[in-house]
Amino acid sequence: MIWKQITEKNLEMVVEMNKVAVIGSLNIDTTLEVVNFPHPGQTVKAINKSSTAGGKGANQAVAAARSQAQTSFIGKVGADQQGKFMIAAMQEEGIETSGIKVEQEAGTGTAAIMLDQRGQNSIIVYGGANSYLTAADVQAAAPQITAADFAVAQFETPQAATIEAFKLAKQNGVTTILNPAPAAKLVPELLGLTDIIIPNESESQQLTDIAITDLASLERSVAKFASWGIACSIITLGEKGVFYSFKGKTAKLDAFKVKAVDTTAAGDTFIGAFAAQLLPSLENFVTAIDYAQKASALTVQHLGAQVSIPTVSEIMGSIQLRRGS
Ligand code: ADP
Repeated sequence: MIWKQITEKNLEMVVEMNKVAVIGSLNIDTTLEVVNFPHPGQTVKAINKSSTAGGKGANQAVAAARSQAQTSFIGKVGADQQGKFMIAAMQEEGIETSGIKVEQEAGTGTAAIMLDQRGQNSIIVYGGANSYLTAADVQAAAPQITAADFAVAQFETPQAATIEAFKLAKQNGVTTILNPAPAAKLVPELLGLTDIIIPNESESQQLTDIAITDLASLERSVAKFASWGIACSIITLGEKGVFYSFKGKTAKLDAFKVKAVDTTAAGDTFIGAFAAQLLPSLENFVTAIDYAQKASALTVQHLGAQVSIPTVSEIMGSIQLRRGS
């Protein structure tokens, strides 16, 4: 299949659709809307409750699929209704699901999300079946990984499984993208297998021990990633935009100015859209960031995670978006 992709010079050209393999989590998201988050020991009333398909891995795969990437998923669900629901939800997006295994020892992963009226979220994740993803499960899905242009992983599944996936990827010329989220200690072996790292501000701080306070601290953070052998990095900064390092050039790009209603899945949308739009040669790195920023600026204007992830036509049509600082 082919699709039009915007090049660095903003010319349209017909290229092959990216193949993206996502190794990651599948969660049922239960969202409770509150006026303000409760303090420890306090009880507050929820204004609304809803349950939807989620998980960082699943969200990123949906974002990639809606941006026309040929997307496959490698992960684990429980032998329960929620697991069936998650697989069906992925298939509805056109995502290839033969790499999703069923775990007998644990239920499908669950996220309890609190959302306040300013659109800020606070999340508790139960890993469940996600925590049981093994290197052997990844091996069983080797064809999906080795055929991909990009392999994308996060930290909601065991790093041993990601290491196996990234090894397979690197042996087969597949570019690896690591979203080290939620913040956790990185297994050093993963560093040598990562081509592009995309943390948010707090994840970057956790990894580098560098507090992000200004441009100089961002420069120091990406320099630290480069010293670990990861030359391409993007630190996402929420409504402040992104800071990236590519081929020795660093720059900050403001976010698009929008009214945020719910920032859930902003980062996931960014990653999936970026992986779908980036050329395998990486030559349109900055244009792909621009595209991913537009995608996530659309996501934050709507309530919910997967439901608010935009399609390629919505992203391409968002010409009214303007950057702001
Ligand atoms: P995460 O969801 O992983 O914490 P961020 O909050 O950094 O990730 O968001 C990822 C990207 O989404 C940002 O770099 C930015 O481009 C976009 N984004 C996030 N919040 C907003 C916002 N309030 N307004 C516009 N864009 C936003």
